[in-house]
Amino acid sequence: VINDSDYSDLLQARQKNVGRNLSIGYNQKLKIVKGALQYLYDDKGRTFVDCVNNPSHVGHCHPVVVKKMQKQIATLNTNTRYLNDTILEYAEKLTATLPSSLNVCYFVNSGSEANDLAIRMSRHFTKQKDIIVLDHAYHGTSTVAMEMSPYKFDSKGGFGQMPWIHKAINPDLYRGPYKYGDEKAGEKYAADVQRIIEDLKKEDKSPAVFICETLLGVGGQIPLPENYLKTVYEYVRASGGVCIADEVQVGFGRIGDKFWGFELQDVVPDIVVLGKPIGNGHPLAAVIVTNEIADAFNNGMEYFNTFGGNPVSMSAGLAVLEVIQDEEMQQHALEVGNYLMDLLKGLMNKFPIISDVRGHGLFIGAEMVKDRTTMEPAIPEIDIVVEKMKEKGYLLSTDGPLHNVLKIKPPMPFNKQNADEMVQFLEESLNEISL
Ligand code: PMP
Repeated sequence: VINDSDYSDLLQARQKNVGRNLSIGYNQKLKIVKGALQYLYDDKGRTFVDCVNNPSHVGHCHPVVVKKMQKQIATLNTNTRYLNDTILEYAEKLTATLPSSLNVCYFVNSGSEANDLAIRMSRHFTKQKDIIVLDHAYHGTSTVAMEMSPYKFDSKGGFGQMPWIHKAINPDLYRGPYKYGDEKAGEKYAADVQRIIEDLKKEDKSPAVFICETLLGVGGQIPLPENYLKTVYEYVRASGGVCIADEVQVGFGRIGDKFWGFELQDVVPDIVVLGKPIGNGHPLAAVIVTNEIADAFNNGMEYFNTFGGNPVSMSAGLAVLEVIQDEEMQQHALEVGNYLMDLLKGLMNKFPIISDVRGHGLFIGAEMVKDRTTMEPAIPEIDIVVEKMKEKGYLLSTDGPLHNVLKIKPPMPFNKQNADEMVQFLEESLNEISL
């Protein structure tokens, strides 16, 4: 066992010169010095299987991404006020993965910035200000993105809910009012969005935007119920609003069955926001909109972004798309994800503390409770399990409004052997805590 005190100098230096409200994972801290595909290595020579870093989508330091970026950075990196092929090539390849109506790209540097811009564009287009979000959602750390994130504004230190923000209930089939087996649950959850629209109407307003993730991340690793987005999008569009799909966590083939999360719901958003996996960890994000929305935004004021769309970022984006395709990663995510989900469901049958296993492809959540009837969150048990898993070489973390959902979204090269071993260690850990 390696003690925290080993890192006391580092922790002190960090306390002195680096923003202090950034938590560091695990009780026994880790100093990671190297990464390769789904593996991370620490300064003590230990190897870990990374089960949570979805930004390193095609794998940490994937050689194709590294080489392509190295070549570009040794050739040219500049802003986008010059003509350059990389941005055009990337915009073409990226939009080819999307429905044909989504064809104008704005490249930015983070998911927060992308959501911020998406809201600005929606407000230009609709001439309205109000935003409908899902309860517990997280959309980023800029001021506007924080306003849209109940996960932040409702939490300790948060600034509370702005009057133009409206929260719809989380369509959570495990914990919400409409549960698994209710065939109309999607429509029933969507009715809460319609309720907000009706309330706005009474004040002579209508929503500018409805935004949600297409599988809920911070909300608890939750796939949306059937017909949810279809019904919500109809309501929102009927009231003149724009529908934004935040694909920052789930996009780029991770969910296996489809390339994009919104495809699971059989809808076409008006705006799609991309981030995290798009550049394999390099700061790149994108807002992709319809021609109509792009035209409304082109209102005389320039939109310039110093780093957005630079050739190095575009090379990273191109390399990621190339690797996903060449290595058939979407299919891999489907097979390994289904395999892992079956193993986790097997564990759920043995250990009542695991009360729900859900997800698609390599985006999986396992909810942990002390008691299946009361649904009391299994805290601190879940944190003990995460810590034990780290000691056994598997890096996991928790999510959800009650912090009781094991979050599994590994780099895509995560394989069946990793899944077998992970579940074997989870079983060991669960046996150890029930001793
Ligand atoms: N949207 C979602 C769904 C996210 O999970 C995050 C980041 N966790 C963001 C937006 C913000 O992205 P970034 O941290 O790149 O600003």
